[in-house]
Amino acid sequence: VTNGPEASGQRSETVRRANLSTILYQVHLRGPLSRSELVARTGLTRGAIRGLIGELNAGGLVSEERSMPLGVPGRPSPLARPRHHGVVVLALEIAVDSLAAAVVGLGGGVIEHVRLDRSRGHLSPERIVSDLVRSARPMVSRLRGGTTLVGIGVSMVGVVRVSDGVIRVAPNLGWLDVPLADLIARKLQLAVPVSVGNEADLGALAEHRRGAAAGVDDVLYISGEVGVGGGVIVGGRPLAGAAGYAGEVGHMPVNPAGSRCRCGSTGCWETEVGERALLRRAGHSPNGGRAAVDAVFEAAAAGSRREREALATTGRWLGRGLGGLVNAFNPSLVVLGGLFGRMHPFVEAEIAGALNLHALRASREVLRVAPAALGPDAPLLGAAEKAFEPLLVDPAGYLAPRPAIARLAGA
Ligand SMILES: [Zn+2]
Repeated sequence: VTNGPEASGQRSETVRRANLSTILYQVHLRGPLSRSELVARTGLTRGAIRGLIGELNAGGLVSEERSMPLGVPGRPSPLARPRHHGVVVLALEIAVDSLAAAVVGLGGGVIEHVRLDRSRGHLSPERIVSDLVRSARPMVSRLRGGTTLVGIGVSMVGVVRVSDGVIRVAPNLGWLDVPLADLIARKLQLAVPVSVGNEADLGALAEHRRGAAAGVDDVLYISGEVGVGGGVIVGGRPLAGAAGYAGEVGHMPVNPAGSRCRCGSTGCWETEVGERALLRRAGHSPNGGRAAVDAVFEAAAAGSRREREALATTGRWLGRGLGGLVNAFNPSLVVLGGLFGRMHPFVEAEIAGALNLHALRASREVLRVAPAALGPDAPLLGAAEKAFEPLLVDPAGYLAPRPAIARLAGA
């Protein structure tokens, strides 16, 4: 048993670190915030908040300025803002049809962004990483003096081992066991951590923090393209699984009489609701890609019966799989991203009908289904959030050397 002044000193240091994290999260996610708003959101005292903001301000993470509302009597309340241009991350994305890079500031604002089309098919990891680095490097070199880059986040369409950023399998690119985090770190040479996540997990994170699921604690995010990805938020936290592979709902077996899946199994959910299934039902080549998918939606919007029926059938399969997932996870919100977000206005009734049939009534009663709000950049924004995470979890670790330097400079 540890006791005495030393133990209590350690405890108060732990509390200080946790409180710094709480304040920085709030300012990052909801800022600018007044001290009164921070009191209401965190339950900390006004005095404690003043001290914590002071530390975050001295460390260059948060700025505080007096807001001067005209005609309002009394002392203006200072507003705490994230230092958008002072603290940034680099977010990268490898998607089915494109590559993207962005510089994102603390607070989540995008400072620079580029997305390049990528032809589908198998490309070597070295080639993809060079293309990504070529678009990212100029952005990094344009960062203003005094800007701190705190991390690199990467969104990847594939199964990712989160502990070391190894891509276990990426069927769209034909990759097996590719050490993506290492490859990117070696090419960019930026001396900051590289974290890699699955695109649906990161899409779920972004929608949960800033999109359709903001403020909702139990969320199922399902995103469709060629494959189907899922991200599950339970009690406000992403469900990772033992190695980070949770949420591979596309390979949930749904049809015993179904067709063979890319994963080697048969009748997986993605063989019924993925892009290829939709294209096949609409009478297109399953390999038609994005242009063919666009054509299906255009024809359906114009009232063409074949395309509408293809969407309806796909919507019923989508609802059937969702029914099983809703029974397993009891979310209050299902967010539909990618292809499914586009399908949503056409198949709302089919999804609702299938959910009525397959979800337990008790679970169904508390459930809402909504399209994603952040659009195609959701995984990229999620990668940025992931790259900010170590800073947000323990800002004191980043502040440590700075107050000393500031004191010396002021002395
Ligand atoms: Zn499969």
